[in-house]
Amino acid sequence: MKTIKTQVGIVGAGPSGLLLAQMLHLAGIESVILESRSRAYIENRQRAGVLEHGVVQTLRDCGVGHRLAREGMVHEGIDIRFGEKRHRLDVKALSGGQCVTVYPQHEIVKDLVEARLRTGHPILFGAKATSLLALDQPRPRVRYEHEGEACELECDFVAGCDGFHGISRAAVPAGQLEIYGRDYPFAWLGILAEAPPASHEVIYAHHERGFALQSMRSPSVSRLYLQCAIDEDVDQWSDDRIWSELHARFATDDGFLLNEGRIVQKSLTPMRSFVTAPMRHGRLMLAGDAAHIVPPTGAKGLNSAVGDVRIMAAGLDAYYRRGQSDLLDRYSDIALHRVWKTQRFAASLCTLLHRFHDEPRFQLQMQLAELRQIVEDARAAELFARNYTGLPFDV
Ligand SMILES: Cc1cc2nc3c(=O)[nH]c(=O)nc-3n(C[C@H](O)[C@H](O)[C@H](O)COP(=O)(O)OP(=O)(O)OC[C@H]3O[C@@H](n4cnc5c(N)ncnc54)[C@H](O)[C@@H]3O)c2cc1C
Repeated sequence: MKTIKTQVGIVGAGPSGLLLAQMLHLAGIESVILESRSRAYIENRQRAGVLEHGVVQTLRDCGVGHRLAREGMVHEGIDIRFGEKRHRLDVKALSGGQCVTVYPQHEIVKDLVEARLRTGHPILFGAKATSLLALDQPRPRVRYEHEGEACELECDFVAGCDGFHGISRAAVPAGQLEIYGRDYPFAWLGILAEAPPASHEVIYAHHERGFALQSMRSPSVSRLYLQCAIDEDVDQWSDDRIWSELHARFATDDGFLLNEGRIVQKSLTPMRSFVTAPMRHGRLMLAGDAAHIVPPTGAKGLNSAVGDVRIMAAGLDAYYRRGQSDLLDRYSDIALHRVWKTQRFAASLCTLLHRFHDEPRFQLQMQLAELRQIVEDARAAELFARNYTGLPFDV
């Protein structure tokens, strides 16, 4: 069997795996990335778009921030709507100077792939990891298929960066992981529209008909979401029906109007909170969606993945440069400390903004009271802004 040897074997070339590889490269640590999909596929997969302040800084520090600095849209505030009124939160002022930047995840992936190719170190596309072996031994192995051949990657550590549906988490023996989770009783119908965003900042709209969100991918492309039933049939949503529902949910008493445009993509996103603990088993460390998922309301998934990768890269650096393993040994504890804070924010925002049909009248008044507190009470607004723009990284 063809075998490659390296220091760190990385399963998955999403933002977690690619950023880890770049950080390791800068620290002089060798890695090999295995990605089951093609380069074109991962570079065009539409997902996250809102980057925390510290994540933008991290990407810059890793030498992949040039296009982000040029093309990213810096947002100093957000628009929260309820009761047909709009309220602007100046998150920059409230958080002590932190902004978020809108820059699509697939553009980050493109920047990181390009950086990886420039290093000349291996990234294998179409390489599907099929099993992880000897995770409790000094040299674990990743078995994978590439170009019709069964191959093996032998390494010191395996970084499981293969997302929620990957094989890494499943490779941990039964009973070794605690799973915490919650599935929400609704989903998001998302569209990508060739329409300039009607507001240059993200809009969070709480409405009796259900939540709606306006984000953007560029000055001419809007990303819009509608809360819908979990089993919604997207084909039942004509373009006219989508626009009419969006207009209803974003309406304000001062006559706000959304811009319409050609809808180029429709998708359904389920809402889930999920954490697995610990995030390390033997020589396998999990990062990003492989270890935890947040409902997308708080825009925290990718940001949370970057938090994990920073800790893992710092631990590997201490291990290889100074022979110290204590940071790696504490990887899971340190990562989970931040992960749970992020989970709390994402879950509470999800619960605050969506309609729950099992307790509509009481729940609605609780939500409105909390929303009023956020826009009226400076301390509540500050806490919101600090969480939204990103808590400090632990490492
Ligand atoms: C609609 C939507 C909107 C979102 N909006 C935001 C937002 O605004 N802000 C935010 O921070 N987050 C957001 N997220 C979440 C964010 O997209 C994820 O958290 C992020 O992609 C996690 O990155 P990752 O690298 O951990 O996992 P992934 O991006 O899932 O990457 C995992 C990679 O592993 C590969 N892989 C899987 N199995 C194997 C295998 N067996 N062998 C080899 N490779 C494998 C996959 O092909 C994939 O490329 C959103 C998500 C969705 C769905």
